[in-house]
Amino acid sequence: MPKCDICRARDAAVLQAHTGLRLCKACFFSDIVARTAREIFRYNMIRYGDKVLIGVSGGKDSFVLLNILSQIYEPSKLGGVTVIEGIEGYNRAEHIDEIRRAVRERGVEIHIVSIKDLWGASVDDMVRLSIEKGQRISPCTYCGIHRRKSINLVARELGYDKVATAHNLDDEAQTIIINILRGDTARLYMNHPLRPKGSELFIDRIKPLRKIYEWETAKYAYLAGYRPQEVECPYLELFPSLRVRVRDMIYRIEASRPGSMLRLLEWFDRVFDPSRLRASESIKLSTCIICGEPTSPGRTLCKSCELQIGLLGKVEIAKRTMKRGHSI
Ligand SMILES: [Zn+2]
Ligand SMILES: [Zn+2]
Repeated sequence: MPKCDICRARDAAVLQAHTGLRLCKACFFSDIVARTAREIFRYNMIRYGDKVLIGVSGGKDSFVLLNILSQIYEPSKLGGVTVIEGIEGYNRAEHIDEIRRAVRERGVEIHIVSIKDLWGASVDDMVRLSIEKGQRISPCTYCGIHRRKSINLVARELGYDKVATAHNLDDEAQTIIINILRGDTARLYMNHPLRPKGSELFIDRIKPLRKIYEWETAKYAYLAGYRPQEVECPYLELFPSLRVRVRDMIYRIEASRPGSMLRLLEWFDRVFDPSRLRASESIKLSTCIICGEPTSPGRTLCKSCELQIGLLGKVEIAKRTMKRGHSI
């Protein structure tokens, strides 16, 4: 059994392709925690005293994010939010219990909300109505938009300063390529960690794991003893997206040239730094005339209200005000 290239004492457990190093479990953990902390520091993602709400899906990435943030930051300043999408066979009661336990074990408060309760229809309801109406809108659109809107609402109502999501390097590399293929310059700038705050209603989102490979979060979770029941969303197979094709392409390149994804993100960070934009080009979000939530520049209706009007002919406004520890 080869020894770890860092401590030269313990047996290696991981071969890190992008550095060529063999690492033992302890040195691998330290490496991931240090790289995450460095990224947070580099972009000043968390200021002293900030309350940070972590989006916790129960998957390996959100477990790793929770695990690392609760080591390097004060757990009483952290919270977790789980959004129940309302997808048959995907949201399971025992899964939610496991999430609740994992979060509380670390001294972090957990909030559980459901899309149906907040916005009047579950993702399954929206997809069913959408198919009935012959609309060709992907379930991921309904899900993603309402998840984000729910998390922003919880964060704002409960006084959090930041929302931390568990997007990893693979997710970020895919998003960059997709936006390049679409020629969407505005979105490229908006995805940069230094983008300006577009609206007071919008709680700043941070992605501390953006330079950590997905295989690394998977390995970290596994070595830390976390065995999530990773249930694949049933809609993924039905509606293969551009993201899946881009992912496969990037994986082929990464396999032959390890480190490509990291170099792509470093390049992106330099080129799409929004501080390089002139003031006249800066991005200011609009406010939706129906729900009052922030929306893309120049829009009067937010995407969520637009989707709901398309489906229901009306919009359900979040029915209840959040309370601390609120759970549905
Ligand atoms: Zn070691
Ligand atoms: Zn709206």
